Amino acid sequence: IASKMSKISRNLYKGQSVAIFTSGGDSCGMNGALRASVRMAIYLGSQPYMIREGYQGMVEGGEHFVKAKWSSVSSIIHLGGTIIGSARCAEFMQREGRKKAAFNLVQRDINRLVVIGGDGSLTGANIFRQEWSGLLDELLAEGKITTQQREKYVDLHVVGVVGSIDNDFCGTDLTIGANTALHRITEAIDSIASTAYSHKRIFILEVMGRRCGFLAMITGIISEADYVFCPEAPPPMDWHDRLCEKLQKEGEGGQRLHIIIVAEGASDLNGEPITVEIVKKVILDKLKRESRITVLGHVQRGGATSAYDRILACRMGAEAVVAVLEATGNTTPVVVVLTNNQIERIPLMGAVERTQAANEALKSGDWAKAIALRGVFFQGNMMALKLLSRAKPPTKEQCCVPPPFNIAVMHVGSPACGINAATRSLVRTIIYNGDRIFGVSNGLVGLIAGQLKPLAWSDVIGWCSQGGAFLGMNRITPEGKYPEIARRLREFNIQGLVVIGGFEAYRTVLSLTTERGSYQEFCIPMAVIPSTISNNMPGTEYTIGADTSLNEITKICDLIRDSARGYKKRVFIIETMGGFCGYLATMAAMAAGADSAYIFEEKFNVRDMQRDCANMVAKMSDVIERGLVLRCEGANKNYTADFMQRLYEEESNGLFSCRTCILGHAQQGGKPTPFDRCIATEMGIACGQFIHEQMVKSLQTDGTMLAVTKHSACMLGMIGPEYKYTSVEDLSHQTEFQYRTPKNQWWMKLRPLLRILSTHDSAYTTD
Ligand code: ATP
Repeated sequence: IASKMSKISRNLYKGQSVAIFTSGGDSCGMNGALRASVRMAIYLGSQPYMIREGYQGMVEGGEHFVKAKWSSVSSIIHLGGTIIGSARCAEFMQREGRKKAAFNLVQRDINRLVVIGGDGSLTGANIFRQEWSGLLDELLAEGKITTQQREKYVDLHVVGVVGSIDNDFCGTDLTIGANTALHRITEAIDSIASTAYSHKRIFILEVMGRRCGFLAMITGIISEADYVFCPEAPPPMDWHDRLCEKLQKEGEGGQRLHIIIVAEGASDLNGEPITVEIVKKVILDKLKRESRITVLGHVQRGGATSAYDRILACRMGAEAVVAVLEATGNTTPVVVVLTNNQIERIPLMGAVERTQAANEALKSGDWAKAIALRGVFFQGNMMALKLLSRAKPPTKEQCCVPPPFNIAVMHVGSPACGINAATRSLVRTIIYNGDRIFGVSNGLVGLIAGQLKPLAWSDVIGWCSQGGAFLGMNRITPEGKYPEIARRLREFNIQGLVVIGGFEAYRTVLSLTTERGSYQEFCIPMAVIPSTISNNMPGTEYTIGADTSLNEITKICDLIRDSARGYKKRVFIIETMGGFCGYLATMAAMAAGADSAYIFEEKFNVRDMQRDCANMVAKMSDVIERGLVLRCEGANKNYTADFMQRLYEEESNGLFSCRTCILGHAQQGGKPTPFDRCIATEMGIACGQFIHEQMVKSLQTDGTMLAVTKHSACMLGMIGPEYKYTSVEDLSHQTEFQYRTPKNQWWMKLRPLLRILSTHDSAYTTD
């Protein structure tokens, strides 16, 4: 059931009550979902209750039911775990326990529930819903509730939000908490990598995932792991030999660092468990080499919530409350999910049954079915992992075969975290395809100077985790330099070109394509891998580097807020990068729980700012101590950060002081986030394949390359869970060149939610 596009205005559900609780294992992002649910409920005029300790609190009643107000959920969005507690409740598994819970709800006029938990919690909620009528009849017969109560609360309405670090719920591309768990795993691997590298060590890392290998699979993709044991992809029975042979060969090739990832639930084709201890023993017995085991355990559950999880939680929590308040007697209970980067509602029990079917399929050894049930996003990642593990360095004999094609890779624009990861997987895919790849130093300046050098398999070891751009880059574009560029492409016999970078990278390929009529050297397949912190490119929902930057900004916002703790009331005006694109300011504002975000795309004037000031004054007059206002650098040339600071301070009438903070280059980040490593690695693979296919298509019988169709010059984009190519020519019609932004930006639809969550008036539109 896709949620219908509808505008939902303030106080639409006045007089209703809704209870929100967290249940089962905790996960980072649950607090964000709770905050969004509470605030959306208030916005809609209903009374939110928070139930402490999940079903246990519902059964016990009393102080476990807390009436929530706006400030009850202030300053929690960044915290791991759940501030209202979560529990497993045996009593709720029994009808008697559920009857007590029903009584406690009716006593408080509640018959609408938002459940934030895993499939067990959602199953329990559905059973409760089905029994509701009978339970109320019994309570009436026992004289515990009145006839009016019985008649008023005919139905129980339930909506689920899935919080789970394993991403083990079918129907959603991602569950709340999985992205943060990947952050913890990546931090651990980066630490391990430095020590393993120093000592030429083999590390075996166990990650969570008893019933789902999502964490192991993504870790495998982003960690340059040597071997990944994941429940959905059991290794061949001779894995002992294959593993050791791989370690041996890679060691001989000079590789100093070896990482093996084992999911908790990994097994072989016969269903025999593969544990970290078994892997260690195999390596010791066969290679006579010591290895070190690291079991991450609960570290994966905790820590600061990632920006991605915070935003996902905001979107899901808000939508869940709208769904539960919209529900009528015959509405099917739903769970709120992420599909194709959209928040949608799907039937709750259908999704639970699919999840259980996937668990069964795994148990019975039907891995293909389990993967199919997990959906397109999971399947795409599994394919990437398989491709990566199949790709091997060429043998000596293979190296003697002349490479069919020469491809150049070049970076154009400003550095963004993930560029090196994309280059690494591109280089390896190209070598695996049997082609030769040249790295161009310093973008077009280097190309014109003839700074091209062949890249080998081992040249890119360790690149995945590194920020910046190892090949060097700048923002020079090709206009006016076509003859020199053509000369070098001819000299090095470059037959395919991949440009990694931001808006200038796209402009470079577009310009070269438009000059194809004048220069035969430009009639080669070309591709752009979008990589910029600003996320301002057409044809893709995310660019490589934007997630890292978003996390950096969010972290700084957390720090700024915490740093002023205990000091007098203060508002911070924080300026982000992004040029005329307000993506970073908007998303960071949502992730940091900011009060406003001023961007170029949403025009504002001094009256809007005065209204926002009044809103801030109202909040600060209550218990709130800190205010955060984000401003994109290109928001408005006159309403500068300094202007805003003075305006806010003046309007506060002494209630709070105001400071500005221009974030600058720290936003580019030091090391790429797991999200950026993952999309970068997958885009590199996809692009390597695209360019090879296009070269095969464009090869003429006389051996020359003639690529003239618009599809031979494309940009790769992430649209929903898939990677798609759009010709740069088509993209040029979707671009505001003057402002360096796409004409349509998907994230603009999140602006009303940002305003609602910070108490501004706004008409919420369901996704
Ligand atoms: P996780 O993914 O962390 O395991 P979960 O929600 O699946 O989360 P469970 O332990 O399965 O966690 O369930 C949490 C609680 O939900 C249980 O302790 C119980 O109170 C309730 N619950 C689960 N299954 C049922 C059921 N079949 N009937 C009634 N209540 C249930």
